[in-house]
Amino acid sequence: MAGESEIKETYENGTKILEDLTNNAHELQEQMLEEILRRNAGTQYLSRFFPSGQADKQNFKTNVPIVTYEDIKPYIERIANGETSSGTSGGQQKLIPITTESFEKGCVSDEGKSLSLYFSKPDMETPSGLVASPYMTFYSKTNIFKTRLAKFCLSPIETILCLDNKQSMFCQLLTGLLQRDKVVWLASNFASVLARTIKFLEDYWRELCCNIRTGYLSDWIIDPGCKNAMSLILTRPNPELADLIQQICEDQSWEGVIKKLWPKIKYIRSVCTGSMSQYIPLLEFYGGGIPLVSPSYVSSEACFGINLKPLSNPFDVSYTFLPNTAYFEFLRVNKDGGGKAQETRTIDKPVDLANVKLGQYYEVVVTTLAGRSISIQSRDVLKVTGFYNKSPQFQFVERQNVVLSIDADKTTEEDLLKAITNAKLILEPFGIMLTAYSSYSDTSSTPGRYVLFWELKMKDSNDLPKLDVKIMEQCCCIVEESFDFTYKSLRKGGAISGLELRVVKRGSFDELMDFYISKGASISQYKPPCCLKSEEAIKILNSGMVGKFFGPKTMS
Ligand code: AMP
Repeated sequence: MAGESEIKETYENGTKILEDLTNNAHELQEQMLEEILRRNAGTQYLSRFFPSGQADKQNFKTNVPIVTYEDIKPYIERIANGETSSGTSGGQQKLIPITTESFEKGCVSDEGKSLSLYFSKPDMETPSGLVASPYMTFYSKTNIFKTRLAKFCLSPIETILCLDNKQSMFCQLLTGLLQRDKVVWLASNFASVLARTIKFLEDYWRELCCNIRTGYLSDWIIDPGCKNAMSLILTRPNPELADLIQQICEDQSWEGVIKKLWPKIKYIRSVCTGSMSQYIPLLEFYGGGIPLVSPSYVSSEACFGINLKPLSNPFDVSYTFLPNTAYFEFLRVNKDGGGKAQETRTIDKPVDLANVKLGQYYEVVVTTLAGRSISIQSRDVLKVTGFYNKSPQFQFVERQNVVLSIDADKTTEEDLLKAITNAKLILEPFGIMLTAYSSYSDTSSTPGRYVLFWELKMKDSNDLPKLDVKIMEQCCCIVEESFDFTYKSLRKGGAISGLELRVVKRGSFDELMDFYISKGASISQYKPPCCLKSEEAIKILNSGMVGKFFGPKTMS
């Protein structure tokens, strides 16, 4: 297949390191835990678990609790508020103490010229004066990015660091089009960003062509860094190139447009597993068959693993664990074939990386070198698919408890319930009751949106309530306001469209139940799903729709 040798070569550069890491996976994990304990056993958080002062592996395993992010939020907020000192910084979306060292330990190298769409957000200052920045912003400012990865990215660093995402996207795409023959791969962290990029291209290709044709940058690009960087790239009128791009974009069908615009492109590199798999069909369509490479499995805490078979089918990707990025433990998850997150349940005590078994499902617990060394439950369910030397390989199965997901947002069942509970309060004075709800992530258009289904009734009769548009729109606002920081910042940045609330007539949720029962659900155990995955189920509720309402176009 075209591009296979180049891709292999890229990955082979790291082969020696990889062999060492995976052959010594068990020893490296032991050393990692020892180092974590040596450095952090005296911290306020950890020391209480070692009352005898003996911070060894055994005591760590028996005494240190496994927590979820919600459990540690108060501690991290205390750091942010300056009540405890730390050498760390954290991002407000999901504040995880992270140090430059721990971050740089987890990075992988690459070669070639890429059109990598990376974006920044403003840093925030916590009340105690610590800098809190979104992960990608933190990343683009690290030395590892500036000195190593930036060499392979076409986008000038100034365009990546520009805080206005629209100007940044325009300039990055303009750079990519002006240097179209250099682009060997197209990249973003998550596939959702590429979906947004394609939408942006649809909206702006005429203007991009105009810039190329005239040699003048659009005057709404006012960011000094962008202007400066673009003045070195957009140096002259190029009507031939503008004509060519125009011809490609004027085509009725945009099937394969990525390949046409960037003829030397060999692959698209972006996480396409987990909730990002919803974008695979779109990228396959626009890519015209270019391989989709899902490179790594990364979280704010650490780089968990990398994909050693970059050309594998995006639905079959396995990640090989990197034993030097964090200390990993694995909680077995009882998963009945094809079951949903709600049906999973963790059992047993956690096992080490050395003791995971082929074919079983686990949830990862990660303890990092950075900051407080908290053992955080990732909520990700992984299935062991094999071993590379002594390092296990996993397929990402699902994120437990996440019911709605668009772009980087992950809204859990609890988030949704809390938001709906807040919103329905304003219906009460009108004697209106919410009797059932469900939802789904609608990514049929870009940017996608969350859709809620509500079945409403009058408290004292079975009549359908009169739906006042203003009040229902207010419900949408309250739901959106109740969602977390990540949702709101993506919504404000235009990556998520306004929430849609569909009111359905009485009995619609009974029909939904009939549907699930016909598919084998047991009546006695039936719970209306708070999120719908099946097209058929969505159709059933849509057919009972009596009104739809939207959140505001933009969120302030
Ligand atoms: P965050 O900690 O906010 O950076 O998000 C990390 C989460 O993103 C992980 O716990 C996964 O749920 C998800 N994630 C990261 N990389 C991948 C991947 N390669 N495939 C699927 N999900 C991923």
